[in-house]
Amino acid sequence: MNIHEYQARELFEKFGVATPKGKVASTPEEAEAIAREIGGDKVVVKAQIHAGGRGKGTFKNGFKGGVHLCKTPEEARDIAGKMLGQTLVTIQTGEEGRLVKKVFVAEAADIAKELYVAILLDRATSAPVIIASTEGGMDIEAVAEKTPEKIYRESVDPLLGLQPYQTRKIAAALGLTGKQASQGAKLIANLYKCFIQSDCSLVEVNPLVITPSGEVQALDAKFNFDDNALYRHPEIVALRDTDEEDPREVDASQYGLNYIGLDGNIACLVNGAGLAMATMDIIQHFGGSPANFLDVGGGATKEQVTAAFKIILADKNVKGILVNIFGGIMRCDIIAEGILAAVQETNLNIPLVVRLEGSNVDLGKKLIRESGLAVISADSLSEGAQKVVAAVNAAA
Ligand code: ADP
Ligand code: MG
Repeated sequence: MNIHEYQARELFEKFGVATPKGKVASTPEEAEAIAREIGGDKVVVKAQIHAGGRGKGTFKNGFKGGVHLCKTPEEARDIAGKMLGQTLVTIQTGEEGRLVKKVFVAEAADIAKELYVAILLDRATSAPVIIASTEGGMDIEAVAEKTPEKIYRESVDPLLGLQPYQTRKIAAALGLTGKQASQGAKLIANLYKCFIQSDCSLVEVNPLVITPSGEVQALDAKFNFDDNALYRHPEIVALRDTDEEDPREVDASQYGLNYIGLDGNIACLVNGAGLAMATMDIIQHFGGSPANFLDVGGGATKEQVTAAFKIILADKNVKGILVNIFGGIMRCDIIAEGILAAVQETNLNIPLVVRLEGSNVDLGKKLIRESGLAVISADSLSEGAQKVVAAVNAAA
């Protein structure tokens, strides 16, 4: 799960990570009022979408930049007016872009230098790693590719936690000295606390800035949370913005289904992530192209199977369905009942191939055979994949 920058700011505040003051606005008038409240001679207005690269992005109406410096509250209102309700395209959004529904109006920091710091889980060491670079504000992937020596990595022992000598080392790697070094070290320590206590899989601050007066502040933030730990954080779940997610994936998560839309035309409905991957691979192997990854879980119910069919069928590219279920926890006859109910309820009119294996498989197959519905049965995974590819090709 991701959150918006204005929400990240509140988490930073809670954990003592220094960041400019600011508030979120949904209308130009609100943006103006916030700018007035912040005072001073400049504020920034920042489009809120779940994607980076906003500064260099372009709106579909031609307006350039999703991050603007404004000298007066009136200017903040005008700029907000140009962003709200418009679609912003950045290197991370893809060409369809994202609709901007809110802008974040914040104190503008004076910037002497832009740095980079992120904390993520390193799968190689199964431990958090802190990544720091003096090359902030820009595309970190480009820095990693062109000047890898400018990327500093510090692994953290998950049991001991981040040690003070490590935060000092990172601050030094960022070129911070004196008061800035102790401020930077404290910010990194608090950022780590925020990462651990919020069960994040990623926190990225780009840029982390040093101001001319020597303050160290986080100006931008990206958070990813571990979905499997969200049950411990109702306060974070409350920050979810489903407008920013694929509506099919949102629907699926409501039924406890793991769904990821792809661009092929053969839908898969499978129980278990590993089996789902194998099913997608074998469809590809026999010349087809999977339309989705869909794992209904070990104990799929009839309701879940019906919901899964509806989500699959909402994708207009889908020309055939392969159901591949291993009845372990769930018996094949229950799954068969779910499939048959879903076929009737959705008036299915595209080829459906079902491969069942496991507990009560004979009963499950019998139910399908005797239903009188146009369901193609398969005994093995490769037979199922071949049959669905053939059926889709024949219909095309
Ligand atoms: P994105 O990464 O999506 O482009 P950022 O929040 O990093 O968005 O903003 C882009 C650039 O805008 C930053 O690198 C920084 O130079 C400037 N910027 C962002 N926030 C502020 C701020 N509060 N004060 C001054 N400059 C800012
Ligand atoms: Mg940024």
